[in-house]
Amino acid sequence: MKYFIISDVHGNLEAFEAVLAQIEASANGEYRIVSLGDIVGYGPDPNRCIELTTQVAFVSVLGNHDYGVLGLTEIELFNSVATKAILWTRNHLTKDGWNGLQRLKDRILISKGIATFTHASPFEPSEWHYIITYGFAKMAFSGMRTPLCFVGHSHQPIFIVEAPGGAIDIIHCQEQSTITYNTNDKYIINVGSVGQPRDGINKACYAEWDDEAQTVSVKRVAYDFKKTQQKICAAGLPTALALRLETGL
Ligand code: ZN
Repeated sequence: MKYFIISDVHGNLEAFEAVLAQIEASANGEYRIVSLGDIVGYGPDPNRCIELTTQVAFVSVLGNHDYGVLGLTEIELFNSVATKAILWTRNHLTKDGWNGLQRLKDRILISKGIATFTHASPFEPSEWHYIITYGFAKMAFSGMRTPLCFVGHSHQPIFIVEAPGGAIDIIHCQEQSTITYNTNDKYIINVGSVGQPRDGINKACYAEWDDEAQTVSVKRVAYDFKKTQQKICAAGLPTALALRLETGL
């Protein structure tokens, strides 16, 4: 079975639709889509992105921005631009959007004892830790009960491998990267961000997991970010959120 894993759509409909079109075009046979959350926050199309996620995702967890919009996590934890976007999103959610988001509110899910799906870290999921250093990677591995764990949150695609002796290797992804895994090691895979990449590449990012070939690939697709930029500005969201889509930072 192929699984396409998406995260951090952040209300960017153009990026989300481009990813779904590429998945549809590239998938040969049956597949499932997994969403790792942060469906909303930052972007101008929260309702449509929630609706689409509900329609296409077989498995879904929520992220810290979704929790912020729902009032389930402290808004003081966010920077000022993120807080403005969360308040804007809260004010623009329809009743269906609100209910749709509420229904997806798991923080962590485990699939067949093979993979864990969570937005931030499997270690203390409610604390939304970033896995960006060896120390945080070590903690994340200690919270894992499966060989694979798929995460989002940092908006930077990355593979982190822990050997049985505890040695950790951090592999930063190129524009397209594939790893073949074995079940002796443990793997944390950051699938990057659909709607707001922060690795210097302004293309939407997601991952493809093939559990028969035992491979995970990071994929990119170009999208019409200029259209999203115009919508962000027209919506009265902070201009910085429009500018960063162009640089992918
Ligand atoms: Zn995010």
